[in-house]
Amino acid sequence: MIRVVTDRSKPDSVCFERALRAIKDGQLPPGVAERVWGGLGSGLPCSLCGQPIHSSDIEIELDGVGTAAAVRFHSRCHHLWQQACARVSAEADH
Ligand SMILES: [Zn+2]
Repeated sequence: MIRVVTDRSKPDSVCFERALRAIKDGQLPPGVAERVWGGLGSGLPCSLCGQPIHSSDIEIELDGVGTAAAVRFHSRCHHLWQQACARVSAEADH
């Protein structure tokens, strides 16, 4: 019997794949922002997972990334987006 990966890794990989697609589609910026704001969640939806960022969560907001709308993430989604950016730029090098 094959032991599957932990439950936690599944939603992470789903969001990671979504981030990759959104970067390639131009819905999310492909790299570092001019400014990054961190603070308590404003209740507005996360640009990656679409779930509201509650005031009990940390909200990361990107500024100067060239997208029409503000880009904001849960701290966890921000981390996934950074990983996706690294993957996209690594693929572009080949
Ligand atoms: Zn999120």
